[in-house]
Amino acid sequence: MSDVKITVDDVSKVFYKKGGSTAALRHVTLQVREGEFVCLLGPSGCGKSTLLRILAGLEKPSSGSFTIRPGSRDRPLQSMVFQENGVIPWMTVWENVAFGLKVRGAPGSVVRSRVEEYLEKTGLSESARLYPKELSGGMKQRVSIARAFANDPEILLMDEPFASLDEQNKIILQEELLTIWAETKKTIVFITHNIDEALLLSDRMELMSAQPGTITESVDVRLGRPRTIEKVRADSGMAKLFVKIHHHLRQEVTASRTAKNKEDM
Ligand code: ADP
Ligand code: MG
Repeated sequence: MSDVKITVDDVSKVFYKKGGSTAALRHVTLQVREGEFVCLLGPSGCGKSTLLRILAGLEKPSSGSFTIRPGSRDRPLQSMVFQENGVIPWMTVWENVAFGLKVRGAPGSVVRSRVEEYLEKTGLSESARLYPKELSGGMKQRVSIARAFANDPEILLMDEPFASLDEQNKIILQEELLTIWAETKKTIVFITHNIDEALLLSDRMELMSAQPGTITESVDVRLGRPRTIEKVRADSGMAKLFVKIHHHLRQEVTASRTAKNKEDM
């Protein structure tokens, strides 16, 4: 693969706790190209967040390794967007978006112009002085996204950022994210368990097995851009892909239930 930005090489992760251990990931190998949008899709508990936390440097692999190809020196390697509670409650929208840049000691003029740019792109300019408690769930996620992009990281890691939103807000934010991604061409690893979301967003999906998670299949999403959910729904190839992936996920969920029942016996 040319232009590889992220390499995950045979990563396994075991969590040890009193009286036992949990194998979260086994032999995960993955490559992501510069500027690519990759979705990791798998059933709940299969280790998706663990893999993302490893890429974010928040967790260490038990074995195996990963690299993120560095770029410019004044950029952070990665920014993370969480499912919820990613905003700092005692800071305004403006301060939240500026946070990463300020921590890095970016000059005031750079902070101001980047914050304003991303407030604008995420439709938050009018809300810059509000505090998180005054915002809806969708707006809070916009703040997290604005902060992540304003930070100008080498790669963006997104852990089910829209999972707690209602359907309408979810679609609006997904399409906004695609617009910003098309402009910035950031490398994105995005976790979801929602097939429609992965079809709408990604260049490629990596399907994961039940816990302990490993990548079982890589699926290219061959649908032109710009995309909308209407285009995804109207495309017969995407409809077939949906069914195929749905079967895959179902099998994995069944497999994990059977394994759990055996453990409990
Ligand atoms: P997913 O994001 O796919 O739902 P996670 O990566 O959160 O899955 O979790 C995978 C497995 O690892 C689960 O069984 C979870 O309980 C376990 N796990 C995750 N983090 C920890 C931790 N810090 N300590 C112990 N077990 C953990
Ligand atoms: Mg998770």
